Amino acid sequence: MERVKKMSNSKLAEKFIPAYEGNYSKNRTGRGFKIEAITIHHVAGIVSIENLGKLWQTKGRAGSSHYGIGNDGRIGQYVDENDIAWTNSNWNSNCKSVTIETSNCEVGGQWRVSDNALNSLIRLVADISKRNNLVPLVKGKNLTWHSMFTSTACPGAYLMSKLDYIIAEANKINNPPTPTPTPTPTTSRKVGDKVTINGVYVSSDSTNKLNPAYTTGTITKIISGARNPYLIDNGNLGWTNDNCIVSNTRTYTVVNGDTLSSIAKRFNTTWQKIYNDNRAVIGNNPNRIYAGQKLVIK
Ligand SMILES: [Zn+2]
Repeated sequence: MERVKKMSNSKLAEKFIPAYEGNYSKNRTGRGFKIEAITIHHVAGIVSIENLGKLWQTKGRAGSSHYGIGNDGRIGQYVDENDIAWTNSNWNSNCKSVTIETSNCEVGGQWRVSDNALNSLIRLVADISKRNNLVPLVKGKNLTWHSMFTSTACPGAYLMSKLDYIIAEANKINNPPTPTPTPTPTTSRKVGDKVTINGVYVSSDSTNKLNPAYTTGTITKIISGARNPYLIDNGNLGWTNDNCIVSNTRTYTVVNGDTLSSIAKRFNTTWQKIYNDNRAVIGNNPNRIYAGQKLVIK
């Protein structure tokens, strides 16, 4: 009964149980059609892949599907993907679709399917989608369902409610989200910044914190990415890091065209704060600053 599967068929199918030849049409591409969609169905019953195979082998059944998923989550195949299964009650859509019948785990009600069956459905949909260039799957376009083509309850309320999830998960399998890179901590600190610190280290990679008292120094070197990236006072004080810096005072030399507002914007502070911290330099008129004036930015 089993036969060698063609490359165009899913490796996820553990059995190929060929449908009766009168229950499907041969040679999709030979008839001028190609696979443009996947169609999801439910069986409206609780079946194994072998039960479903027997159904499609019944002469005169006039129905079939490419794949079937049993209640236990196993996947069977009955019609080659390049043949046309009769599943969608619509000739045109049959000609363009690969069809999947999914066993339910309850009869009636929401027509639920087991988690095993749902997970297999997602994997199978992803696999068919990938091999037939149907990536990404788009609901109602290349991922379709029976009731789109005829008046039917198929694929049932439960699978209908899971369509977005199935599509999202299948698309994720074919195009895994790239992990958000952990942003490299960036510092706005610069050589020349005057900082108040509550600790230093003997080296840029030391974990042994010394002198936990507050002290002030100037950054004289930065090793970006190091544990303690800032060398203070050329090593007279040692190395420190952002956790140890309790305040950061910078000096800015005014150039032509500067206003307190433009400087404040650059240092992410307010012109009022700069003005208040530099009253002695600026004087009484905040609109009057001159090139060459040195302002302290805290
Ligand atoms: Zn159906």
